[in-house]
Amino acid sequence: MNKTTKNMKEICIRILNERGVTLDHIVDIVYGLQKKYVPDLTKEVCLDAILRVLGKREVQNAILTGIELDKLAEENKLSEPLQTLINNDSPLYGIDEILVLSICNVYGSIGLTNFGYVDKTKPGIIGELDKMGKQTNTCHTFMDDIIGAIAAAAASSVAHNAEE
Ligand code: MG
Repeated sequence: MNKTTKNMKEICIRILNERGVTLDHIVDIVYGLQKKYVPDLTKEVCLDAILRVLGKREVQNAILTGIELDKLAEENKLSEPLQTLINNDSPLYGIDEILVLSICNVYGSIGLTNFGYVDKTKPGIIGELDKMGKQTNTCHTFMDDIIGAIAAAAASSVAHNAEE
């Protein structure tokens, strides 16, 4: 791993923390997703998988882009009509789900199935982000999908490794 890649990974982890999500939050989701399929699963294995996902350039790019748009929306800095679409998390917008497809697919297509599941069930911090975005002045339109996609991809990686 070269230096820039390593820095990008650390920057992404820091930005996720700044937006209220720790690696432990994501570990809990991955563990919840894979526990029933991998009986001897540990949280350490889940964390390793998350760190592998966060090491991928396409994942880092999606994190940087999505969170930047959430922050700009919070600060009222986007042009209309995009400002309102993102700030209100409009169901007709849909680019938040599209952006994270690049994350879901880093460990194969089961990532997409996992993502659909977390998007529907909103476990742990994902549900909290969803509520926060609706009740406060914060915007997590991209963030909830980013976290769901990281968890989904990490769960796929855990599944693939358990197969081998
Ligand atoms: Mg969203």
